[in-house]
Amino acid sequence: MEVKNHNFLKHENVRLVLKLISDHGPISRAEISKYMKMSATSASRIVALLSEKHLIEEVALDRQQVGRKANYFTLNKNGIYFIGVELDVFGLRIGLMNFDEEMIFKKTVALKEPLPELVIQQIKEEIMMIKKQFQLADNHILGLCVGLPGIIEPEEGIVEFSVQLQWKNYPLKEKIQEQLGIPVQVDNELKMKAISEYKLADDGVEHLAVIGFGSGVGSALISHNEINRGKSNFAGEIGHTIVDPNGTYCPCGNFGCLQTYIAEPFLLNEAAKVKNVATITELINEIEKGEVWAKNLVDKAIKYAAIAINNTVCSYNPDVVILSGSLIENHPYIQKELLKEYPSTIWNLAHGTFDVQITNSKDEGIILGAAIHMKNYFIDHIIL
Ligand SMILES: [Zn+2]
Repeated sequence: MEVKNHNFLKHENVRLVLKLISDHGPISRAEISKYMKMSATSASRIVALLSEKHLIEEVALDRQQVGRKANYFTLNKNGIYFIGVELDVFGLRIGLMNFDEEMIFKKTVALKEPLPELVIQQIKEEIMMIKKQFQLADNHILGLCVGLPGIIEPEEGIVEFSVQLQWKNYPLKEKIQEQLGIPVQVDNELKMKAISEYKLADDGVEHLAVIGFGSGVGSALISHNEINRGKSNFAGEIGHTIVDPNGTYCPCGNFGCLQTYIAEPFLLNEAAKVKNVATITELINEIEKGEVWAKNLVDKAIKYAAIAINNTVCSYNPDVVILSGSLIENHPYIQKELLKEYPSTIWNLAHGTFDVQITNSKDEGIILGAAIHMKNYFIDHIIL
């Protein structure tokens, strides 16, 4: 037990010194030992360990102080990287993030086929190209995290079920690790997006909810820097809250799930009863042409999206609600109408307690959040 506590303290100190350097660098050994209230020897040891792992670097600083020259340390901004991957039916988006959480490269490619083995092969090929382009050795990339839609078991990185990809119980983390030989995390995409939004949020935001309206409907909550996962990591799956037991059939097996009124495939199915429109853009074009059926259909979706905002606010009591997803991000008409519609749907007592914003992280949200999640995991669990 004592040994374990000792290791824990050591790990915790390493983590805190790294955070100190990240927040306040360039910083000297003497300053580290002062802030951390630790001996100069301990500070030096931890600095040596972090340098050896290429996590920090020494910088020459001319602070024009009289006396002995001190060595200063900063994060090794461009020596090590984390990779964030967004995986969805449309394709793969891959981002290379430095230790300072700046996305220095990103790329989107179409999926050849949404079969797990082929997707992993494609991820591998893309990473090999990135390594070549940036001349990165194996030890420059400290980990990779994939964000994808579905119910994900994050400890083992198992995709329990993804309707979009049609994957069931697939051990994605283990399979990518086998191929790439680096630490891998796998998690729900909206939870990853929430991490980005939380990073970009105004100072003082402590409870941030993200709602995604797209091929499905979902939400995610970060409270005091912690993702709200629930027992099985599906907290926030509001798309399957039932709003009308006599409603439309949902592929989950129930009738009248919230997403059946809002999500893209359901809107296009409904539209097909009147006219065959292939995309949401075509549906909105019909509204602009003055087609009443198209307006009624989209108005109903917007009403239910407003209900989703109200229900999220009532469930989570957030400071801020971020609206995201392809319906909001790609269709100004829907965005504008929803912002007009939602206030009249919000519970009286909740009025004025929260802000509503359109996504700040935009299409970088999932890859940035995934890379930050991997970085945090590395610092919390792997660093030693
Ligand atoms: Zn459902």
